[in-house]
Amino acid sequence: MDEGVCGEATLNMQFTRLISMRVACALAALFLAACSSDRVIDTSRTFKKVVIDAGHGGHDSGATSRYAGREKDLALDVALRVRAKLEAAGFDTVMTRRSDVFIELDRRAAISNAQTNSIFVSVHFNDSPNASIRGSEVYYKSRCSVRIAENILTQIAAIPGFSNRGVRTANFRVLKKNHYPAVLVECGYLSNPSEGRRCRDGGALEALAEAIVRGIVLQRHGGASMVAAN
Ligand SMILES: [Zn+2]
Repeated sequence: MDEGVCGEATLNMQFTRLISMRVACALAALFLAACSSDRVIDTSRTFKKVVIDAGHGGHDSGATSRYAGREKDLALDVALRVRAKLEAAGFDTVMTRRSDVFIELDRRAAISNAQTNSIFVSVHFNDSPNASIRGSEVYYKSRCSVRIAENILTQIAAIPGFSNRGVRTANFRVLKKNHYPAVLVECGYLSNPSEGRRCRDGGALEALAEAIVRGIVLQRHGGASMVAAN
């Protein structure tokens, strides 16, 4: 074997080994930062940005209630209030929609996935054929989203007239396609007469936005224990 070629081969091997080690280190770091098993980057304690997703829009009205009107309008109302409050609290924000337009679910997740160091919060109102069902719920898919869901729901349930129907897992598309911690807030049942009427009230929408933001801020600043202490 020609020595020059052999020397080049050795250099190549060393270079390949170095690259392999760097790739292995990068993958290990990625694995450690991710929620195990669900390939989500765990930004739940570091995030500086919040992607705010007002549910539905355009031809998709979501739930339509004789007590509260259209879900898409209420969701956008709360989402815009959340954005203003988060920005006042020093967070960067991205809205998946700012007006009454239809955005595909995959597009909503893609908007989130294009960010860095962010979390995703989707705002909805609920509906049921059983008019007696009422209460707020927060859904999540990845494990690193659980605390965010709990913090937000605890704050919403503390609003007079609202109640806690629990944190739940779901395979909603905007959650399962998200590469960041993601939650979907069902603020209340528009199909319930008293809750529906309450959700139509501007004061309640403001209180919901405040509660969502408080939950996010507590989450960011290690708020699980603060929430528990309240
Ligand atoms: Zn909805």
